[in-house]
Amino acid sequence: MKFSEMPYTHPDMDKVRLLADRCKDALINAETADEAEKAYLDWDDACSEFNTMYNLCYIRHTINTEDEFYSKENDFWDSASPLFSQYGQAVVKALLESKFRPQLEERFGRVMFINNDMFLKSFDPAIIPEMQQSNALTTEYEKLIASAQIDWNGEKLTISQLAPYKQSTDPNERHKAWAAESGFYKENADKLDRIYDDLVKLRDRMAKKLGYDSYVTLGYYNMTRNCYTREDVEKFRSAVIKYAVPAADRLYREQAKRIGAEYPLQYSDTSIIYPDGNAKPVGTAEDILAAGKRFYHSLSEETAEFIDFMYDNELMDVLSRKGKAAGGYCTELPLYHVPFIFTNFNGTQSDVETVTHEAGHAFAAYVNRNRRPGDNMLPTLEACEIHSMSMEFFGWQSADDFFGENAEKFKYTHLSDAIKFLPYGTMVDHFQHIVYDHPEYTPEQRIDEWKRLTGIYMPWINMDGSAFYGEGRAWQRQTHIYERPFYYIDYCLAQTVALEFWVIMQTDPKEAFRRYMDLVSLGGTETFDGLVAAAGLDTPFGDDALRKITEAAMKFLGYEK
Ligand SMILES: [Zn+2]
Repeated sequence: MKFSEMPYTHPDMDKVRLLADRCKDALINAETADEAEKAYLDWDDACSEFNTMYNLCYIRHTINTEDEFYSKENDFWDSASPLFSQYGQAVVKALLESKFRPQLEERFGRVMFINNDMFLKSFDPAIIPEMQQSNALTTEYEKLIASAQIDWNGEKLTISQLAPYKQSTDPNERHKAWAAESGFYKENADKLDRIYDDLVKLRDRMAKKLGYDSYVTLGYYNMTRNCYTREDVEKFRSAVIKYAVPAADRLYREQAKRIGAEYPLQYSDTSIIYPDGNAKPVGTAEDILAAGKRFYHSLSEETAEFIDFMYDNELMDVLSRKGKAAGGYCTELPLYHVPFIFTNFNGTQSDVETVTHEAGHAFAAYVNRNRRPGDNMLPTLEACEIHSMSMEFFGWQSADDFFGENAEKFKYTHLSDAIKFLPYGTMVDHFQHIVYDHPEYTPEQRIDEWKRLTGIYMPWINMDGSAFYGEGRAWQRQTHIYERPFYYIDYCLAQTVALEFWVIMQTDPKEAFRRYMDLVSLGGTETFDGLVAAAGLDTPFGDDALRKITEAAMKFLGYEK
């Protein structure tokens, strides 16, 4: 069905509540495994309908924020979704406690049970007040950042409007832009300290109310860490320090020479890889879109079928228009078994990344569109990022089509950015472990920890004491640290696995894609480590993966030992 023809109906929340009660009772009172299975699948149908209406409304609202109908409906969903989670939780609890659980695990797969066990461990009505306060604090943080009105050549700019100037090839303009941004954060330093301090204490209190030693445990449950522990993450950290930090340091030393900057670098010099600017794709937004279509046709039969399906059913809205919301996302409409991609093309390299990254997510959703229960469609978040980050590297085979004569420049930037990201991302995660292990720390102690970690993970940075960035406050602009604790390591783990695929692509692209399909086609029926093993790759929680990817990448980039 085409997106424009999908009917939208406003849900009847009383009906949903009654249905949840009925499914829960049917699970509790089931006399056979078949009855229990049917009860859960009935609830799964309801979820699929509810989530489809929610997403239809959200998509249509973001496509045209001036549409009054969907704008109003969107307000309704803000209040309806927490209720829906509450009803759903009761059904899930009955599923987990069912006397037929062993039979159901056999039919549905064990992973959704492990995940739902964690979901229940992460919540109790007793922490609702803290959850609400923490939502209020993250909203306060978002609003503070969105409120920025930075003076720039007689204009007032937001932080995202200032971003292009932070990448300027004119060093004066660039340093000025970084200083202007730093000025805003520095002015609000007390607020940023206070909001984070309150958040840390609230999260610590929630964990203790639930009986855990610290928020680290609860944070891991919230992120559904179903196959690795903090000890495994520590092993990953050591491998990053051993292999990725020296590799990234070498890249930054070369970068400093290339752009004529001093080493160690100012933060404001880290964003420029080439003195004449970074790679730009060829042509207009429409041209990039057309090259994207050619790419999926050349990659494989599966991806060709996928991209045609997306076009035929109007499942991509990618060109910028008046009234359209900013940003980009990929979501699903489970009732119709389809994904949807929303973004705003602007004719830059980020359009290419969207064609490959967001469509990588959509491709995985498409491949697994008929799985039931819906719990089994997609894996945990770090594994979902493998789908997308690996697809970015498969995109290299169309680099000439996307970037023309800039293709090599694009590859160099993409690959070196991937290596440079690992130390930074891992440090963001390490920092949060320290913060939540020590909820008693003052804001100054947290800043000292960040400075100390910068020396370990980012030795190329000049911590010269300049406002904000140079004084150990750079983490305050990393929204995940405030809004999504412990999320960041997901990108690092996924990047490592994506780079393992990249290594195979260099010698045998067909084999790389075959193994990628082995991983993608398991959907959410395996854990992260199970998916990595299914593709025959090394786990990121040992030395081998990071050693191999950094060696191969440095060789490709022309820096052999
Ligand atoms: Zn993603």
